[in-house]
Amino acid sequence: MTGAGGPPFDDDELEEYYRRIESATAARDAPPRRARRGGVYYAPPECPTPEKIGYPTLAAVTGAILAVSGPGRASARLRCYECRCGFWHLTSSLRG
Ligand SMILES: [Zn+2]
Repeated sequence: MTGAGGPPFDDDELEEYYRRIESATAARDAPPRRARRGGVYYAPPECPTPEKIGYPTLAAVTGAILAVSGPGRASARLRCYECRCGFWHLTSSLRG
């Protein structure tokens, strides 16, 4: 009995065997999809009065009122309201 007891695989076969396992494992562990960047996009609500100037904050719209209704223009009554579009608008209330 000579020449027996060799390794069941040659080095090349063994390397190829491991490569197959690695490739299969990599394919299984790979993410199926790429995660998209960014979150969900929320469309801003539609403004019912897009022709009006939109002020981002109450302070901004208040400043606009003060700028418009200065001394001598006290008759101009302006009011502000927060629109559903997220901005503040000016509205003139002519009613006493
Ligand atoms: Zn609006």
